[in-house]
Amino acid sequence: MIDFELSADMKGMRDMINQVAEQTMRPISRQFDEEEHTEPSDWQKMMWDVSKGSSVFGGGPTDKKERSGNGKPSERNVGATVTIEELSWGDAGLYLSIPNAGLGGAAVAAAGTTEQKKRFLQRFSEGDPKWAAMAITEPGFGSDSAAVATTAVRDGDQWVLNGTKIFCTSGHRALEKSEGFVVVWATVDKSAGRAGIKAFVVDHGTPGVTVTKVEDKLGIRCSDTAAIVLEDARIPLDNLLGDAEVHADPADASKGFKGAMATFDATRPAVAASALGIGRAAVDFVRTALKEAGVEIHYDRPPMKQTALERDFIAMEAHLQAARLLTWRAAWMMDRGMKNNLEASMCKSKAGLAVTQVTQKAVEILGPLGYSRKILLEKWLRDAKINDIFEGTQQINLLIVARRILGYSSKELN
Ligand SMILES: Cc1cc2nc3c(=O)[nH]c(=O)nc-3n(C[C@H](O)[C@H](O)[C@H](O)COP(=O)(O)OP(=O)(O)OC[C@H]3O[C@@H](n4cnc5c(N)ncnc54)[C@H](O)[C@@H]3O)c2cc1C
Repeated sequence: MIDFELSADMKGMRDMINQVAEQTMRPISRQFDEEEHTEPSDWQKMMWDVSKGSSVFGGGPTDKKERSGNGKPSERNVGATVTIEELSWGDAGLYLSIPNAGLGGAAVAAAGTTEQKKRFLQRFSEGDPKWAAMAITEPGFGSDSAAVATTAVRDGDQWVLNGTKIFCTSGHRALEKSEGFVVVWATVDKSAGRAGIKAFVVDHGTPGVTVTKVEDKLGIRCSDTAAIVLEDARIPLDNLLGDAEVHADPADASKGFKGAMATFDATRPAVAASALGIGRAAVDFVRTALKEAGVEIHYDRPPMKQTALERDFIAMEAHLQAARLLTWRAAWMMDRGMKNNLEASMCKSKAGLAVTQVTQKAVEILGPLGYSRKILLEKWLRDAKINDIFEGTQQINLLIVARRILGYSSKELN
């Protein structure tokens, strides 16, 4: 049965994380927005010390047999969405800067073998702060992930990678600031289309791998977004994510790509949760401002008796709540080992749209104050937009929803 209420434990955890967000993130939020490429090192170290070993990110699909401490199904992924919402309520750029296995870890969890999970993820519970990233996007494409041009050629017991990746979140931190790694999507056979695309783990310190640029951005400015060039980068054969036998069998060739795509089923609810956090920050701020101005929201009045402002504010809250329920559902399904491809895209598209609309409206309601850098609202508006772009844009996620509901393949509806 679906329960729409968080457990008492989960509520306790949410409140504790909210305090961390309020007390440690909000005070430095503006500073690291303005000083775009400065690392919030002390804060990162503190977050690593308290969170290492437990993935802030949820860690992806759950084995059906996995149980929480009380014998009930795991709440790992629902817990992650709750955590991410609170951290992003504090500051979404800082949340994305927490040393963590992040997107790269999600890819290993979704597509890696048991041995690979151990080899690549264990380091995130020990030693110094580390990051992992996932590099799909290239100068020649973003949405059409089947257009990967980076190549991987087998040479004896190594893969040799060549290509350019852009807009890779935490790419610089993973490769040059820590003992992390980047999961790189590359094709082993361009003529095979999607079936030729595989995910490879490229470790820090691999010769031939260079971070050529860290982007200046509109929002989430504390997050690092890197361009990476791979020139004859040699990696071990078993850094190809997934079972070597499956990859070797031509009949199963497309499984590699499907495995890599499954990463999104875990990461889209996480992005949706981050969108919720930013949106809620804006709604909370407006609620307080209205209260201080003596404006009451009459939830119980019929629409024709409500003011335009009341209707706008109630709609802001409703959009976020709808997105939250979709997000929890997608994570809840992951916690039960259920396929959530449709639900992951649903929550991501709804939350990405909701946060852009809600933050716009919040700035509008507060007028010049909303636009001023005196308060964080204008920053939240800038931070919001990325949730409508990365991990599949709004349009691409709606396309996936349509395909799943109508039963079309990606060839039939694109
Ligand atoms: C800050 C930031 C961080 C990022 N982090 C990562 C990362 O860690 N790893 C990574 O690999 N990538 C990352 N990206 C890249 C991101 O995933 C891409 O920008 C995104 O997939 C869109 O690709 P694109 O920019 O090439 O846009 P395009 O694919 O060129 O799309 C442009 C516009 O056309 C629309 N469009 C495209 N195709 C269709 C269609 N078939 N139907 C309808 N509309 C369509 C899109 O929705 C979009 O509005 C990041 C980007 C940013 C800005």
